[in-house]
Amino acid sequence: MSKFAGIIVNNDSIQVDRKFTYKIPQELEDKIQIGHRVKVSFGMGKNLTDGFVVELYDDIREEGIRIKRINSLCDEEPLFNYKDFIVMEYMKEKYLCTYIEIIRLFIPKGVIKGAKHKEKQVVYALRRDIEGTKYDKEPYKKIISIIEENQGAYSKSELNKQYNISLSSINTLIKNGYLTTEDTIINRYNSKEYDEYKERNLTIEQKSVVRDLLNGINPLYLLKGVTGSGKTEVYMHIVKKMLERGKSAILLVPEISLTPQMVERFKGRFGKEVAVFHSRLSDGERFDEWFRVKNGEVKLAVGARSALFLPFDNLGIIIIDEEHENSYKSESNPKYNAKEVAEFMAKLKGFKVLMGTATPSIETYYRVKNREIKLLTLNTRADGAKMPTIEVIDMREELRKNNRSMFSDALKVKLKDVLESGEQAILFLNRRGFSTFVSCRKCGYVFKCNNCDITLTYHANGNFLSCHYCGHKERLSHICPNCKSNYVKYFGVGTEQVELSLKKEFGDVKTLRMDLDTTREKNSFERIYRSFRDGEAQVLIGTQMIAKGLDFPNVTLVGVLAADLSLNLPDYRSPERTYQLLTQVSGRAGRGNKEGTVIIQTYSPDNYSLNYSIKNDYDGFFNKELEVRKAMEYPPFTKIMVINMSSKNEKILIGNIGKVSINLKKMLENTNIDILGPSPCIISKIKEMYRWQILIKGDFSLELANKVRVLVYNITKELAKHIRISIDINPNSLI
Ligand code: ADP
Ligand code: ZN
Ligand code: ZN
Repeated sequence: MSKFAGIIVNNDSIQVDRKFTYKIPQELEDKIQIGHRVKVSFGMGKNLTDGFVVELYDDIREEGIRIKRINSLCDEEPLFNYKDFIVMEYMKEKYLCTYIEIIRLFIPKGVIKGAKHKEKQVVYALRRDIEGTKYDKEPYKKIISIIEENQGAYSKSELNKQYNISLSSINTLIKNGYLTTEDTIINRYNSKEYDEYKERNLTIEQKSVVRDLLNGINPLYLLKGVTGSGKTEVYMHIVKKMLERGKSAILLVPEISLTPQMVERFKGRFGKEVAVFHSRLSDGERFDEWFRVKNGEVKLAVGARSALFLPFDNLGIIIIDEEHENSYKSESNPKYNAKEVAEFMAKLKGFKVLMGTATPSIETYYRVKNREIKLLTLNTRADGAKMPTIEVIDMREELRKNNRSMFSDALKVKLKDVLESGEQAILFLNRRGFSTFVSCRKCGYVFKCNNCDITLTYHANGNFLSCHYCGHKERLSHICPNCKSNYVKYFGVGTEQVELSLKKEFGDVKTLRMDLDTTREKNSFERIYRSFRDGEAQVLIGTQMIAKGLDFPNVTLVGVLAADLSLNLPDYRSPERTYQLLTQVSGRAGRGNKEGTVIIQTYSPDNYSLNYSIKNDYDGFFNKELEVRKAMEYPPFTKIMVINMSSKNEKILIGNIGKVSINLKKMLENTNIDILGPSPCIISKIKEMYRWQILIKGDFSLELANKVRVLVYNITKELAKHIRISIDINPNSLI
């Protein structure tokens, strides 16, 4: 019985990003709970706005101010609980964003908009005693038998379309009491039946992982298992145990590896009572899946990052597959990291978090070494398959041999073998690697910044190289400083070109391409995946999309066309990304009973990421990389905050960011926090918007980060119409 409520209003403005106090009308006093959506009047206007109750109290100390009353309650049930609000408060501070941005993660759009469950009128059969009546003939006999077999499944028009039954025959049967119709709520989620995905007997290694997790007392676990070690089977056994204990589970997978294969496996094992949640769902589908969880109809969800916020009330575990993936960190507001939030929730609500990967992120493994996360390992492939043989091809040699095609001689030979034997190959090109780094094709030299050990970026407009960490600039030289040749080139090939060259080389080989361009349409990923699995093409060409989680037993060759593209991203994380990508891509080869080969083409065969990946030596890589990070003062030894500003008007932008930088320098004068920049971003202009940034590097507190945020917004206040601000701490990349 509370008299007042703290309320967050559904409004985007930063100015109203706080709790407002409202009086609870007497008739609602014993009804209103935290998490309820209510109507309140807000501001000057008479219009009512949605608000969310986040606090309740009996009296308020603020005297003399007029307090408005809550107008009405929107839904019977609260949409979140007080523990959820503790999570929201944590996220607001940590990710420098507004309350309402976070509330919208917890509640699907459809609920806030007041969407309804979808209903349809379905047909039931009442009696079948047509024998001897005038309906004892076609089409009536057929209609009754179809409906009896599918009671309540179809509407009249669906029967009409799918079985070619005339509406008038159906209506006649209704009129005479043989059939009836009824309204039912239908679900917009995918209710397709999947083939059973049979449970397997776990290997000894898998068993001990499952046991250690279930008996463990830690909240956090990392499962480090080589590609093909059967991590998914381990997840499933753990989920099953949780369900048996009456708990629920969430499996998070990266958006792009939320593949049909994943859904197929989980629904094939656990049945339709699995919620699937990702950004490609329609608002209606999302609404329905959310309610299935809220109403306790499902105990397991498989989904991308945002599935974390589904309203389960008794979680036993959150599993985070491919833990190292970028997509667990949101790049738009609120810029939360799902791994961090899952950890906070787990400690607050008392459940476990299991992260799994073949290639842990440096940050996570560093925490394993510091004993904050418990390590579980799988060292062998589950089905007895061997790890593939890996061959590195030095592309500088190919140039010397006068082979200017994008395929080395060795790759051509292997491709020919595969095509002739009816096996399949995957060609991988990391096109998201920018075509903007500059290197020498003769000796492999890459132009880097002397201050930062980061690849310099080529700016075509102006023909100069620049470091986007510190702002250093230099003229582009056409002579290699290392070998004096004039083979200095910048990189750039796309998957489309690969496809063309392949056809030129091998005639009419059947290919499939999987990249951002070919997977824009809904279900296109699924189509390409199935078609390759069913052997409709021999070669799959793709970007990182194909690196993850896909299991094709007939693939015996994987070719990495230009390992350098990810080696030379202008980012301190690029060695890590390279190690991960190469390991993951190689893991696609030799999954069946045939042995696999991987061919990696590169201009820098001595690179350490590459060499540790070939040896499958993650620990070696980790130790080396940690040394580099320490020497250069990069995370996990420090934090990096990126203040990104963009505007159509470059002059205003530069003026403003300069002012921000001067003020920040004053504010951080007597600290050991560094300010780098302002400098133009790597992609210095997107959609007519110029982009500049400032980096703040050091061991700063969240409190300081929030002060910086306030300062940045205050200085920019008058230009808010012209300048867009984005602030992020330890983002995925600094591009
Ligand atoms: P990962 O995710 O670790 O790369 P997967 O889960 O894709 O590996 O498993 C690799 C292959 O091994 C799959 O084809 C899977 O069906 C098979 N597998 C997993 N566990 C077992 C097991 N205990 N016995 C036999 N095969 C298994
Ligand atoms: Zn630099
Ligand atoms: Zn050179």
